[in-house]
Amino acid sequence: MEAALYLHVPFCRGKCPYCDFYSVTEPPDESLYLSAVLAEVRLWRERIPRKTVFVTFYAGGGTPSLLSPDFYARLFEELSRLLSFSPVELTLEANPEGLSLKRLEGYLRAGFNRLSLGLQSLQPEGLLALGRRHGPEEARAAVEAARRAGFENLSLDFIFGWPGETPAHLQKDLDEALRLAPEHLSWYELTPEEGTPLFRALAEGRVRLPGEEVLVDMHRTIHERLTGEGFEHYEISNYARPGRRCLHNLFYWKALPYLGLGPAAASFLGKRRYRNPEDLKTYLSTVRSGTLAARLEEVLSPEEALREAVILSLRLSEGVRRKEFRRRFGRDPLESFSKEIKDLERKGLVEADEEGFRLTFAGRLLANQVQLHFV
Ligand code: SF4
Repeated sequence: MEAALYLHVPFCRGKCPYCDFYSVTEPPDESLYLSAVLAEVRLWRERIPRKTVFVTFYAGGGTPSLLSPDFYARLFEELSRLLSFSPVELTLEANPEGLSLKRLEGYLRAGFNRLSLGLQSLQPEGLLALGRRHGPEEARAAVEAARRAGFENLSLDFIFGWPGETPAHLQKDLDEALRLAPEHLSWYELTPEEGTPLFRALAEGRVRLPGEEVLVDMHRTIHERLTGEGFEHYEISNYARPGRRCLHNLFYWKALPYLGLGPAAASFLGKRRYRNPEDLKTYLSTVRSGTLAARLEEVLSPEEALREAVILSLRLSEGVRRKEFRRRFGRDPLESFSKEIKDLERKGLVEADEEGFRLTFAGRLLANQVQLHFV
């Protein structure tokens, strides 16, 4: 059974005002964190199905590039001893600040073969509005250093819809992103998450996001520009050169098994959903005392598993594929959800054919509402 392996790296230099991912701003104690993660792997080893082979690895965060290449070299060595660990794709999420050529070469030597750089914007106004700690020059230098180090699979993360962003800013970001010639681009719409400083600033009227119509145009501009340049639009916010889709994230979007390590990490194994505590201290003390930190959140019934797979697959441009669902769930999704599909087709949010069904452009803009039909 193939599965994906995720490591949450809960350290950041400071908090960005829009972010609600779990991280702390204290400097990491690498050896303490490594020993805890390995203790967690040993605890999981008894519980995961025997034939599980981990075919992707993804260090996400937080800021995984705050941990040294040596941390990952030692981690991968131990993972190969403890698990069936044969990843074809090993991704490191990184922020531009502090990414020297030497450090990037170290990551490559440790085993990473894919780098996902969080640029977010290349406009000074954008980086300021998003509270990032790097400037456009540092971002460009990081891309150049990654290429010089030898990374051949590079993904760049951008955000659109930041306070003050105009269509002209977006055009400039698109021009520059394409000039940097990445293999993969993620272009997320800024979502104000409750509890973040951005959410409060919006509620108090201190900042404003671009209006609804501008945002719809931005969605369209990104799609048209990137697909026009030969990128495949394969997930709502993700574009890839042919053959360069993120294999790891496809496990999430296809509701396939994954194991998550580190605080706040989620796992999905054998229709069971687990989550680790969102607190570094609790995580460290729990795993180091020999107890699994993950708490079982839910065991999905066959019906729930099918619905969940439909909801997640709708994020993909290929949508819900009939053949695949018949094979995995023994059910024809077009028959099982004929009422919902007809209703959504009438509203122009979904299109269906012999192959299956998927979101239209309008459906992608209202993806959350469409997904509610299948809950
Ligand atoms: S956006 Fe990234 S760098 Fe900023 S606080 Fe969140 S995880 Fe850390």
